[in-house]
Amino acid sequence: MPHFKGDLKFLAERMKLKCPPLPLSTKQEHLIYNDYLKSHPQPATKNWDELAQIFKNITNGKTVFPKLPSMLKRYYDQWSKNQSIKMIGMQIRGGYNQVLLKLSSERAEAAPFVLQEQGIAHNTTSSTRQPVAFVPPSVAPYQTHEILMPTTEKTGRSCAWYPFCKANSSVCGGRWRDSCNVYGNNGTKTPPTDEELKLARKKEFKDQTKHCFWWPICTQLSHECGGTRRDKCSIYGKNGTKEAPPLEELQRMKNIYLAKRKAEERENAKMGKKSKESEQN
Ligand SMILES: [Zn+2]
Ligand SMILES: [Zn+2]
Repeated sequence: MPHFKGDLKFLAERMKLKCPPLPLSTKQEHLIYNDYLKSHPQPATKNWDELAQIFKNITNGKTVFPKLPSMLKRYYDQWSKNQSIKMIGMQIRGGYNQVLLKLSSERAEAAPFVLQEQGIAHNTTSSTRQPVAFVPPSVAPYQTHEILMPTTEKTGRSCAWYPFCKANSSVCGGRWRDSCNVYGNNGTKTPPTDEELKLARKKEFKDQTKHCFWWPICTQLSHECGGTRRDKCSIYGKNGTKEAPPLEELQRMKNIYLAKRKAEERENAKMGKKSKESEQN
């Protein structure tokens, strides 16, 4: 063909053809291919010959080029894969969008506590030691990565025996259960069972979300101000910075606060916002 240049011209000349066979590339060629396979869903050798003939007949050297039967056959693998992907895409569109929505939501749900246990347990039983996947601290279940402390002493995660061993793993070596120098194979103390560890972690979690003894005067959580006991709060305790009110006063404030909360809950219930607490009233 006279308009051929460069590679095409070279190819045509070398092959002594008016127009050289080229792999499927143009939009029109793909349409022809699709159309043919729609009516011949299970192509055999004779079909590739036939399709090659079709291409040859409508070859224009611009948008359609001749094809060898082997080219058409080879392309079939790729073509059928693409078809499958399209089909799957159509089938899962609804579910797919939901998956995307979940993945792109700002916060993922906290992994259940049990899962975290398994992660650690699994790690100690495996022969090769891989660093444990990040486990968010119970006080910050939405945390997605480890936050390194500025002081080197505190760098790293809590011990695999936490909360039995409260040392940081960089201190006791307890990145894995049998590397802690307090509990386990490498330690001196008898380690707790899985069940004990699980219970202790649940309790620890509860403790870490507990109000201070002096609540609602002290608004800190008990693990923050130390107020698990009356004397220990760093604000209203024995060595606290503020003068503690008499206990009757504290009780009075508690009652007011609780009454206020109940009233709010009742209000919410009236507004049609049903909450578990209001149902109990
Ligand atoms: Zn330890
Ligand atoms: Zn306190």
